[in-house]
Amino acid sequence: MSTGSIDEAVIVVGSGLMGTGIAHAFVIAGYPVTLVDVQAAALDKSAAVIRKILDDGVKLAKITQEQASAAAQRLSTNTDLAAALKNPNVGLLLETVTESMQLKTAIARAADAALPERAVIATNTSALSVTEIAAATQRADRVIGMHFFNPVHKMKLVEIVRALGTSAATVERARAWSAAIGKTSILVEESPGLTTSRMSALAGNEAMYMLMEGVASAEDIDTAMRGAFNHPMGPLELGDLTGWDTRLAVLQYLHTTFGEKFRPCPLITKMVKAGRLGRKTGHGVYRYVDGQKVPGSGLGKL
Ligand code: NAD
Repeated sequence: MSTGSIDEAVIVVGSGLMGTGIAHAFVIAGYPVTLVDVQAAALDKSAAVIRKILDDGVKLAKITQEQASAAAQRLSTNTDLAAALKNPNVGLLLETVTESMQLKTAIARAADAALPERAVIATNTSALSVTEIAAATQRADRVIGMHFFNPVHKMKLVEIVRALGTSAATVERARAWSAAIGKTSILVEESPGLTTSRMSALAGNEAMYMLMEGVASAEDIDTAMRGAFNHPMGPLELGDLTGWDTRLAVLQYLHTTFGEKFRPCPLITKMVKAGRLGRKTGHGVYRYVDGQKVPGSGLGKL
């Protein structure tokens, strides 16, 4: 079996936001995928979302009806992880369950005990230690991070995270799987915030400091990032999308690791205290009505 071969089946554990997108990426690339979740309702929703992404692909002429149907047929779902693990053709198990070390180590342990020798266990964790997850198994050399971005079907990047014991062969296989599903991969040593969250947290924090200092209005700070650097979104719009509570938690974590440069801007703390978390509460740096940003609603109009 060659590296990243579509003869190898894939198990995706956790059919939430990310698991749905990851399962879609593998089925459309030709892999048989079993999507596992403890909640049957989550699996039903996930299968429906995958069908919708496939249907939209047909409507936009990105794929043919035959490709969409074949991809849908490659997807199966199961609420029983132990049953899914019995498949002897599994090459990759990718876990993307709720961000909890306890859950992730339990899944890694169960997968390690049942999967074929050659199979790789990958985790989509955003912030937990891949090394710690690997330590729960007897195959630390075949445990790796594969960090995807939301929405997976639109975002090209996968951050491949090398834990302390990850072998070079496993890194190569993770890169091959990423390429096979049409993603660009980068290699990152396990480190807080990896590359993406670390850069994004710093830019978002600095944008909030500028807003607090009255250097420019929210709209102008976001326009600067879009217009000068070709980012599709400004740092304040992005913070509203991510949620300032999540942003604050990431900054606090990076502050404890990397020190002063990540000290959370007091304006972020104030916004979280006010419940102005962003799009999800209808009010962050901007106001939102029916999910749409209200023009001219940005904080700090000059
Ligand atoms: P989510 O809440 O949408 O989905 C998590 C799913 O895991 C739920 O359906 C839940 O029922 C399921 N689950 C919980 N325990 C389980 C178990 N023991 N077995 C099987 N399924 C179980 O979460 P999400 O946003 O998809 O995030 C999942 C992971 O991906 C987290 O580790 C998160 O840090 C990471 N991540 C998230 C994003 C993002 O933008 N949301 C981006 C990159 C990485």
